[in-house]
Amino acid sequence: KSFGIEEALNLFGIKDKNPGTLVGEKSITGTGEYIESSSPVDGGSLGSVDVTSKEAYDQVIEETSKAFKEWRMMPAPKRGEIIRQIGEALREYKEPLGKLVSYEMGKSLQEGYGEVQEMIDICDFAVGLSRQLYGLTMHSERPGHRMYEQYHPLGVVGIISAFNFPVAVWSWNSMLAWVCGDVCIWKPSEKTPITALACQKITTEVLKKNNVPTAISCVINGDYKVGEMMTSDKRVPLISATGSIRMGKIVAQAVGARLGKTLLELGGNNAIIISKDADLDIAIRGALFGAVGTAGQRCTSTRRLIIHEDVYDEVKERLVNAYGKLKIGNPLDQSNQVGPLIDTHAVDQYTKSIEAVKAEGGTTVIDGEVLKGEEYETGTYVKPAIFEVENHFEIVQHETFAPILYMMKYSDLEDAIEMQNAVPQGLSSAIMSTNIRETEMFLSHAGSDCGIANVNIGTSGAEIGGAFGGEKETGGGRESGSDAWKVYMRRQTNTINYSTQLPLAQGIEFDI
Ligand code: NAD
Repeated sequence: KSFGIEEALNLFGIKDKNPGTLVGEKSITGTGEYIESSSPVDGGSLGSVDVTSKEAYDQVIEETSKAFKEWRMMPAPKRGEIIRQIGEALREYKEPLGKLVSYEMGKSLQEGYGEVQEMIDICDFAVGLSRQLYGLTMHSERPGHRMYEQYHPLGVVGIISAFNFPVAVWSWNSMLAWVCGDVCIWKPSEKTPITALACQKITTEVLKKNNVPTAISCVINGDYKVGEMMTSDKRVPLISATGSIRMGKIVAQAVGARLGKTLLELGGNNAIIISKDADLDIAIRGALFGAVGTAGQRCTSTRRLIIHEDVYDEVKERLVNAYGKLKIGNPLDQSNQVGPLIDTHAVDQYTKSIEAVKAEGGTTVIDGEVLKGEEYETGTYVKPAIFEVENHFEIVQHETFAPILYMMKYSDLEDAIEMQNAVPQGLSSAIMSTNIRETEMFLSHAGSDCGIANVNIGTSGAEIGGAFGGEKETGGGRESGSDAWKVYMRRQTNTINYSTQLPLAQGIEFDI
């Protein structure tokens, strides 16, 4: 069944004014100040949420910590069974939830559904993982001794998420944390609080049905001040924070000051190297989706193209041609490829960046423009732009969260790799080449310095099976697939003596 926005909001019990502090199905009264969520698509209101107060936050911590004592005693595969059911519920709600994601954030409907699909995928992954939380066994140097390691749950995991993946990032964290035996408090972006309430409803329905404490899933709402309640709180052993580098630096210091753990997923400045041996059909499609998909608002969006001089003019011409065909408009209309930016503040950043690139000497290939008139009344729709630049420009070194693409030229692959690496961020990277010497060089230790390095695909659109994250100012965190689960657990090394002696390690003698 296809749902309208109103109908989807009703389905999830969203009203004009909603509680913003949730412990399972229970709501706690907050400050009485409300944040309004208005859609960048057409300015329509999705409703508002009550901002969490310090008292309400303390109650959340108390109740979720109590739930942890029960949840951690449940065998991991049984916890996995509950995550399996959450995955089933998400399958049922994919249409209305995906639509709300698209309407609240402004990404295309396809990407809204895709985001819910990612949640379903991580649930499946977490179910399998619940039987695979493996530790190693070691051979002891002492006779009659055995050594092994095991992983135990950490406790409360604080999840701070960004607006651009309003729901998937929470699920990447929470589904793994839950099978690991942790409990979660989620502070969604203040720009997208409503889809978080919908996720909470879906989750608590499943938890209730299974008679497990719904307080393993909590939501708090507000801006950075509410985030800071968690980052400074030693009752929260792990903070997983997704957002800007600016935020990550503050969060890392706050959590570091109390020697807590962080998982940081921060900004990117992702490049594609297009070699003279590239399949240009693939290269153009990969660059196009990477640069303008989600209106350039993915952490993995393609910001820079580093193009071999022999194919530079052809790439430029084909890109200009492709950009000319882009349809910009309401992302719920599936014939449009580019939707709005999240708000007019983001539009200001876009405009300022374009001014900066011109001031630094960039050449306009396709100029930017804030779109006006019918369908664009919100002032949030912009034209994807392209500039020819040099990599060292200050503006090129920054992540502008908008569809601005920078082109630069190279003649030698080593220089291209050096350019690709010569930015403060290290999230995603790609090479387009059919030459195995080039692609292997790019993937080698002398190649890309990013957490993600792709061959013949663009920089965005990761699958959940791999560990996701980046190096340098991207924060170094890894979440989602592979062994990312380990960050949600504490490792314990156990040595057991089953002999009648007490030999000391390293052969030390200590007798009286
Ligand atoms: P943002 O940094 O403005 O906000 C992100 C979250 O952090 C919000 O929930 C916000 O309330 C919270 N926050 C901000 N300051 C805080 C503080 N001092 N203490 C605690 N919490 C605080 O980012 P945004 O504009 O929502 O998202 C865009 C950014 O996120 C981009 O830089 C993008 O690259 C990045 N991002 C990274 C990844 C990744 O996996 N690497 C994924 C998505 C987005």
